[in-house]
Amino acid sequence: MTAEFALIQRYFSDPDVLRPDVLLGVGDDCAVLSPPAGKQLLVSMDTLNSGVHFFADVDPFTLGHKSLAVGLSDLAAMGAEPAWATLALSLPAVDDDWLEAFAQGFAQLAQRYQVQLIGGDTTRGALSISVQVHGFAVNRGLRRSAARAGDLIYVSGTLGDAALALHQYKQSGRPQAALMQRLQQPQPRVELGLAIADFAHACIDLSDGLTADLGHILSASQLGASIHQPDLPLSAPVRRHVEQTTDWSLPLSGGDDYELCFTLPPAQQSRLEALRPELDCELTCIGRIEAHTGLRLTTLDAGTQTISPAGYQHFRESV
Ligand code: ADP
Ligand code: MG
Repeated sequence: MTAEFALIQRYFSDPDVLRPDVLLGVGDDCAVLSPPAGKQLLVSMDTLNSGVHFFADVDPFTLGHKSLAVGLSDLAAMGAEPAWATLALSLPAVDDDWLEAFAQGFAQLAQRYQVQLIGGDTTRGALSISVQVHGFAVNRGLRRSAARAGDLIYVSGTLGDAALALHQYKQSGRPQAALMQRLQQPQPRVELGLAIADFAHACIDLSDGLTADLGHILSASQLGASIHQPDLPLSAPVRRHVEQTTDWSLPLSGGDDYELCFTLPPAQQSRLEALRPELDCELTCIGRIEAHTGLRLTTLDAGTQTISPAGYQHFRESV
């Protein structure tokens, strides 16, 4: 379609971020890139589909933000420094107000991390957004498989906020604004990932929920873990929800928080503590990696029980 070319020109060809390692950006058949010598290139892709990952009437600015944020969160989880992004957009029709807001939401986050949009594809079809991100790391980044028995398990921020927003939305159609922001505009923990890259062992970003994602670290590392439920970091609304319902499935298995879960040897704890003042997120130790496989959960009333990572799927729903 001719409109495709005009649309790309208008919304996606004039990047606010111009990086010296981009020799050719949007406009030719390929982008031409010059990755730094001595570093590895890390690549990740995510797709957000209307009706599955977001409501069709979602605010396009926040959607632009989130479609880049989920990719930057993957780079953060590997301890990588973001550099470039490509964007594949499938649109049912050209809606200028929608595209303007979407492009702004995307560009605002891209600017914050100096990510240049270097290309993409624009097609007609059901609303769907795929973003590929590219970043750099030394020493191959933080792997899921690198946990060791005795490591402490940490999470950033608070758990279950995005899932509570979705829960409230479904119950009343009126979720609390602060929670909705956590669902729609997650803040990728890029600075944290970079700061721990030198001394953390394993790391993952929490997209599917704590038990499922920690489960990925455990199976990749062929180890087990114990987590202490009372230590899970909760925002005031999630704490209230948990107290009222006595149901911990939101913080244990609610998805979409995009916090980092990482492990580190106890000897490195002081190094992590020293980082606190310069990071804008809480860091909480929630348990320990153990040689004995399986995931054990200690609660105040019921002692310790073994849980399956898939056992808390109640709130792992789509929109
Ligand atoms: P071709 O037909 O050669 O694949 P396209 O017409 O698909 O080229 O794209 C033209 C240029 O615009 C390419 O550089 C491509 O990377 C870029 N582009 C297309 N869609 C987008 C988009 N949504 N965001 C950013 N760049 C895009
Ligand atoms: Mg093309």
